[in-house]
Amino acid sequence: MSFSNLGLSDKVLAAVAAAGYTQPTPIQEQAIPHVLARRDVLGIAQTGTGKTAAFVLPMLTLLEKGRARARMPRTLILEPTRELAAQVKENFDKYGAGQKLNVALLIGGVSFGDQDSKLTRGVDVLIATPGRLLDHTERGGLLLTGVELLVIDEADRMLDMGFIPDIERICKLVPFTRQTLFFTATMPTEIRRITETFLHNPQKVEVSRPATTAATVSQLVVAAGRESHQKRELLRQLIRSASDLKNAIIFCNRKREVAILHKSLVKHGFGAVALHGDMDQPARMAALEQFRKGEMPLLVASDVAARGLDIPDVSHVFNFDVPHHPDDYVHRVGRTGRAGRSGTAISLVSPADEKSLAAIEKLTGQEIPRSAEHAARPSETAHDEHASREAPRRAGRRKSSGKSSKSEAPAKRPSSPTSAPKPVTFGRAPERHDRSEPADHSHLPAFLLRPIRARA
Ligand code: AMP
Repeated sequence: MSFSNLGLSDKVLAAVAAAGYTQPTPIQEQAIPHVLARRDVLGIAQTGTGKTAAFVLPMLTLLEKGRARARMPRTLILEPTRELAAQVKENFDKYGAGQKLNVALLIGGVSFGDQDSKLTRGVDVLIATPGRLLDHTERGGLLLTGVELLVIDEADRMLDMGFIPDIERICKLVPFTRQTLFFTATMPTEIRRITETFLHNPQKVEVSRPATTAATVSQLVVAAGRESHQKRELLRQLIRSASDLKNAIIFCNRKREVAILHKSLVKHGFGAVALHGDMDQPARMAALEQFRKGEMPLLVASDVAARGLDIPDVSHVFNFDVPHHPDDYVHRVGRTGRAGRSGTAISLVSPADEKSLAAIEKLTGQEIPRSAEHAARPSETAHDEHASREAPRRAGRRKSSGKSSKSEAPAKRPSSPTSAPKPVTFGRAPERHDRSEPADHSHLPAFLLRPIRARA
């Protein structure tokens, strides 16, 4: 199947070719003809499947006819987070470069005045988070009665974030006759109810069973100790020893843990940024940009902050904590192995996480392979014969010289067959206790080292 068979306009086909896409993804192939035929669509697809272009491309084709009126957007796209809204805007900028469309973003953290003046000029595409959109309608600066097409994206995340009442209010403000495109990765009961209420005879398109992980991602479970510091130490071992690691998103269950882990990784010399809900908008955008550009190879994130973000080419996902909701595991793992690329997802599982892990395996219907090496070896190395012999000598050396020396270069595996771990994928050198010690960076790949920046 090629893009030219889907009914898209010449301008849009040219933009697709310019983007370098040769073939539509399954969700694009299935959804685009229905969107162009003005049908309601219920799309069940994870991020990473190309679902954004599945609605952006046909919308661009439909919007070629007609003009926007002041304060009355022609189309409306609802996104759960500011980052996702900004990402969809980037898609319009990319594919709609040849069209003179007004695309406006209504998200928190941006001044009302600027947003208002944009609305006054007339908007073809309004991309908004629910709260900010309702703020504008309540102020009277925005009328939704001209909306011909409504997109509700990442609906299950909207549910998690408590946005469903807002969505219901917004659906009542747009005309009954509008076309609705509804995307969700999973179908909990509440989402099913919403689709039954607000979609009219929708065409259902489903690209993979809800809650399945992409086949391009190799998954692994590594046994971790109970304590946070043990997990941090294990994580560092895993990062250092993953030979094909280009960049990674590390997920934690709590915002607080995101902040602690981020600080610890930086202290140990890793190039890491954090993304969590307590950060202000400019800080979140800056962190994301550094990660996207490859300036910082590690992104420590919470589920809400990282939800659905399109960061192409993430080689690894680490679950520092196993998520409590099995759906979140699927979303996290979906950050890697995107658009047909291969990826690796590694979960650090402490005894307390076993229940959550079982729930994930039940949901996905897949047993996640366990790393034999790490399961056999505790993350704490105090009982490791080699490590306990080495530790005092290393600590002493660090005291005498702040710099790393050649002799501190990548620690070799012990040669004794009794203490040598089997050469498997993970775990190169047993690591020392680390709580207060200065970090030894000599064995880090250069790209993982934080660029030196002057501190203000
Ligand atoms: P999404 O699921 O919308 O977040 O898209 C995931 C990634 O796939 C994005 O980086 C898109 O640029 C990319 N993408 C979308 N459509 C195609 C396509 N037809 N061929 C190759 N890559 C695509």
